[in-house]
Amino acid sequence: MTTNPLLQSGPAGSFYVAPSLPAALDALSDYGAAGAPFAGGTWIMRSAIRHEQLKAHYVAIGKIPELSAVQIGTDTIEIGAAVTHAALAMALAGLPEFGVLAAAAGRSANPAIRTMATIGGNLSASAFAAADCVPALLCLNAEVEIASRNDRERIGLEQFLRMRSRLAPGRLLTRIVVPRNARKTAHARLPLRQSGDYPVAIVSLAVAIDPANRVQAVRIAVGSVEPVGRRWVRLEAALLGHVLDPTQATKVAAELADEFTGRDSVEVPAWYRVSVLPSLVRRAAVAALGS
Ligand SMILES: Cc1cc2nc3c(=O)[nH]c(=O)nc-3n(C[C@H](O)[C@H](O)[C@H](O)COP(=O)(O)OP(=O)(O)OC[C@H]3O[C@@H](n4cnc5c(N)ncnc54)[C@H](O)[C@@H]3O)c2cc1C
Repeated sequence: MTTNPLLQSGPAGSFYVAPSLPAALDALSDYGAAGAPFAGGTWIMRSAIRHEQLKAHYVAIGKIPELSAVQIGTDTIEIGAAVTHAALAMALAGLPEFGVLAAAAGRSANPAIRTMATIGGNLSASAFAAADCVPALLCLNAEVEIASRNDRERIGLEQFLRMRSRLAPGRLLTRIVVPRNARKTAHARLPLRQSGDYPVAIVSLAVAIDPANRVQAVRIAVGSVEPVGRRWVRLEAALLGHVLDPTQATKVAAELADEFTGRDSVEVPAWYRVSVLPSLVRRAAVAALGS
C-alpha cells in the first residue's frame, strides 16, 4: 500500500479534506476498508446512536468542485454527489419535470440538515430506509457514476441500491445522471408528526400523459416502507394506458399494497407504513396532475 503524505492521522483516526477528486480517490484507495467518504456527515454523526463503529479514517469530499455542481443539459442533468439537499432544491426550482426531486431534497429533514446532507450520502447510507432522494430518483430513472483510482462506471440506481452495502473500499459515488423528459412529477411523504420528522412512507411519481389524457409512461417508487426504496411495478402496469384518475389510482393502490412488507420501528408499526400508501398515491396523483 502506498502512503499518501497528505493524510493526517493521529491515534484517534484521521479526517482528510480532499482538494480534488483524484486526491479523494487516492486517499480512499490507500485507506482501504479502514476508510470511508465523509459527505455531509449527518448520517455518520449518529453512528453511536445506531451502535455502529466509526471508521478510522474519513475522506471529506465536500470541497471538491466537480462533486459540488449541478449541470443542466439538454438531454440530462448531472448532479455531483456532494451537492447538498438545499443546493439541489434551489438548482431545480423552475424545472417542473424535476419537481419530485426538488421536493425530496427541499422538504426532507429540516433547513439546517438540508444545508449539510448531500445527495450522494442520501443514496449511499445503506441502512437509511427513509432517504427521500431514493424514491424520487428511482421514478426519474436515474443512473449513478462510481469511480475508483483506476476506473469509472455508470450503472442504474436500482443496481446501485442492491450493491451499495458491499461497495468495494476505495470506490466513490461521484455523479447522478437523470434523463430529461416531458413528464409530470410529484413527491408525497408522510412525516409522523410534523416536517422535520423522518417520513413514515413516501410515494414518488413521474408520469407522461398523452393528448387524450391517458398514461403513456409511468414510474412510481415507494420509500421508507421497506428497508430499501423500490419501484411499484404492478401499480405502474395497472395505471398504464388509462386516464390518470386519483380516485381510481387510490383504489388500485389499496388492492395492490399487500405486496409490501412494512418495516417495524419504535415510532411506527409495519402495518401502518403499508396502510398509508393508497392515500399517498392519491396525493401524488393530484399533485402531479396539478404540476
Ligand atoms: C435529524 C435528521 C433528520 C433527517 N431527516 C431526513 C429525511 O427525512 N429524509 C432524508 O432524505 N434525509 C434526512 N436526513 C439526512 C440524512 O442523514 C442524509 O440525507 C443522508 O442520509 C446522509 O447524507 P450525508 O451527506 O450527511 O452523508 P454522510 O453522513 O457524510 O455519509 C453517509 C454514508 O454514506 C457514505 N457516503 C457519503 N457520500 C458518499 C459517496 N459520494 N460515495 C460513497 N459513499 C458515500 C459515507 O461513508 C457514510 O457511510 C436527516 C438527518 C438528520 C440528522
